[in-house]
Amino acid sequence: MTNLAANLAATAEKHPDAVAIKLDDFELTYAQLRDAAAKFAGKLVARGIKPGDRVALSQPNLPTFPVIFYGALWAGATVIPMNPLFKPREIEYYLSDSGASIMFGMAGDGEAGAQEAGVDFEVVDPANPAALVGDADPLPEPVDRAPDDTAVILYTSGTTGRPKGAELTHHNLDDNCHMVVDQLIGTEPGDVIMGCLPLFHVFGLTCGLNAGVLSGATLTLVPRFDPAKVLEVMQRDKATIFQGVPTMYNAMLTAAGDGEIDLASLRTCCSGGAALPGEVMRQFEERFGAKILEGYGLSETSPVASFNLPDRPRKVGSIGVPLKGVQMRLAERDGSDTPEGEVGEIAIKGDLIMKGYWNKPEATAEAIRDGWFFSGDLATKDDDGYFFIVDRAKDMIIRGGYNVYPREVEEVLYEHPEVVEAAVIGIPHEHYGEEVAAYVVRAPGSNLEADTLTDWVKERVAAYKYPRTITFIEALPKGATGKILKRELRTTQS
Ligand code: AMP
Repeated sequence: MTNLAANLAATAEKHPDAVAIKLDDFELTYAQLRDAAAKFAGKLVARGIKPGDRVALSQPNLPTFPVIFYGALWAGATVIPMNPLFKPREIEYYLSDSGASIMFGMAGDGEAGAQEAGVDFEVVDPANPAALVGDADPLPEPVDRAPDDTAVILYTSGTTGRPKGAELTHHNLDDNCHMVVDQLIGTEPGDVIMGCLPLFHVFGLTCGLNAGVLSGATLTLVPRFDPAKVLEVMQRDKATIFQGVPTMYNAMLTAAGDGEIDLASLRTCCSGGAALPGEVMRQFEERFGAKILEGYGLSETSPVASFNLPDRPRKVGSIGVPLKGVQMRLAERDGSDTPEGEVGEIAIKGDLIMKGYWNKPEATAEAIRDGWFFSGDLATKDDDGYFFIVDRAKDMIIRGGYNVYPREVEEVLYEHPEVVEAAVIGIPHEHYGEEVAAYVVRAPGSNLEADTLTDWVKERVAAYKYPRTITFIEALPKGATGKILKRELRTTQS
């Protein structure tokens, strides 16, 4: 049977009493999660939802999320996960673009957005997950789907433009969560995955929720990322797997301070979603005694394409090697191979590649050519087949004809002991076209001056690369997963 929800049915059959989802004292076993999903599916069917209909889901990381997610899939519907912080305008766009039939979300902005789009809305009471399914008649089996049927539409900016819906099929998502479990985290019942990445984003969805359900592990949730709370929950529940974006590792280090924190239970930490500065990796590992493995992927690739696999040597600063079953190469814009040793665009092929962008055939044809998905990320490859991201194509700065990869400059900034976070962008310049500018968050109590920091970078990189302006700010703008939003820094410049 093809349906991602069949993984839940199978795990619940094998490990009915294992805890699937935990939020502080609240627990759902696999049998309970399956029964709730089957009931939720029954409720959708009773409301006239048919296979392929779009069901929008807007929830923080609460137990209601997996019930709605797996319940909608169980009914054969396509899920549209949305950030619960969206404003009505954004909700209206997602609902209208995807042609959603119904939305399950929070009162307030969610309801207003659904109203604007003319879409049915049901308020979810997070304190009472049982109310979600009521006394609906359960649908005994997940609805059978074709492998190529769309399971989830995830909105992403891709390389350009307004958010587009990446259509991920049942097979895409199933294949990738198998890869994550088999090749990366090796989870089994008894494992505890820290669920602090938002489940509405592909990283948390596949690597946390779907991989957990496939393997019978426990996903312990925090509604949204708070570093002190995450450290507390990891100790309390003896988390064995942590997954996060680089700013989370950084925030946890700061939140931990000199306090006594025991993360001895941790077996694997995975980082992805953005480049992990080498200095952050070193400090986190030294402080907590846990090893971080970095990987790479995108919404369009379900997401994990490459990883520093546990059974191979780890290379710091590398996104690792393609997973078994994934092809990855460096390509030129015309699709030809990048000459050895040069920087090229990462192109990816395999069962993890989305079906396309929802209702956007041109954007799909631009992104997927001859079966290769063009990522917009620039990288090099070493003799052992490890890839190293130099930057996103659109983040690269061209200063007076020279390419400056912000990431390289950021690494040097992070190495300064009084720098907590840094982002480097290009700003318009009348003579050079673009100029290098840095935004830096200093350590608490630091009086570091821009000139001193400029000298630090100048000593370590070629003269055309060091930032000509350094702006100290309280915090860098971040997106839903905690990724630094360079586009917001750019708009403050224009
Ligand atoms: P999203 O679709 O939101 O998951 O964003 C995907 C983008 O995140 C990729 O195109 C990369 O630019 C970036 N990304 C993901 N993993 C890494 C990594 N390990 N290092 C650098 N950039 C990354």
